[in-house]
Amino acid sequence: MKISEILLGSRQFISLEVVPPMKSISRKELLDSIRPLMEFNPPYINVTNHRDEYVFIPQADGSYLRKLERRRVSQTAVCASIMDEFKVEVVPHIICAGATKEQLFSELSDFRYLGVNNVMALRGDCLVGEKRFTPQVGGYSYANELVRDIKKESSTSELCIGVGAYPEKHFESPNLETDIAMLKAKVDEGADYIITQMFFDNSAFFKFVEMARKAGITIPIIPGIKPISTYRQLTLLPESFSINIPLDLSKEIEKNKDNAQACYEIGREWATMQTKELLSNEVPAVHFYTMGKSENVIGVIKECF
Ligand code: FAD
Repeated sequence: MKISEILLGSRQFISLEVVPPMKSISRKELLDSIRPLMEFNPPYINVTNHRDEYVFIPQADGSYLRKLERRRVSQTAVCASIMDEFKVEVVPHIICAGATKEQLFSELSDFRYLGVNNVMALRGDCLVGEKRFTPQVGGYSYANELVRDIKKESSTSELCIGVGAYPEKHFESPNLETDIAMLKAKVDEGADYIITQMFFDNSAFFKFVEMARKAGITIPIIPGIKPISTYRQLTLLPESFSINIPLDLSKEIEKNKDNAQACYEIGREWATMQTKELLSNEVPAVHFYTMGKSENVIGVIKECF
């Protein structure tokens, strides 16, 4: 079933995102970490994708050998395992970064073979150490180009496409207005719905939605929520995702920095408060970033759904 069809229903639902685990984690361990979340009937599960990393091995002649290092289980294997075990839709994230058009369409054809009906079309980020995003030779520069080609190709045109958006603007964009104009380009190319980056201040999301609607974006917008679970995330999340943590939340966590359980509870309570307010403002769904940890997300869902 397509997410666009699910979004036509009146029920507000949970949407989940899982990250392919390190290869040391078994299939059973992965599925057991997702299982408790299935009790809440997520209609689909997003599976993220990560750029291949390379290591450079010094050679006897002084040169370096570039070797592919794949530390995570493949996205395709994770999607197939989830579909097989839970009989639920999966939404693989397709990222332009580091891949040619042919490679992306080969991935897409594998997903069609598996019976996948939905994908998220994303640009992806720079490699660690790179200053700015460089498109792959023969690849895409921006996500809107990928959306356009997915809709154009007869083998993929039936796929329902989600795209990413940033209530606090994408870090490369000069301002939110420009970023929303770029988001509109993805919608005009055929995106069916939007999932946002995580945010911790609902007013930023409400303002973003209002601006997007004014810009003529009419497709559903699903907010992304991540409960902070450790003191370290206070700096790690802004560093990794270019997002803000509101002062009230950061002060509270800072005050409890030596009490891991208290930090965890503060993060869960904040995400619960956010989720309740979003639901009462009639968002179609709430997308939870599990980042390999389901316990705090379960805590939030139990109180809100
Ligand atoms: P784009 O929409 O291409 O935008 C990138 C930047 O370019 C923005 O600043 C935009 O304003 C600008 N721009 C867009 N189009 C144009 C244009 N035509 N001309 C000029 N400027 C333009 N990353 C991963 O590696 N793997 C994942 O699984 C993953 N999952 C994600 C899930 C969600 C819900 C979100 C919100 C993000 C996710 N990301 C993931 C991160 C994402 O890849 C990065 O944030 C990336 O930097 C931007 O991706 P995008 O698809 O939003 O890019």
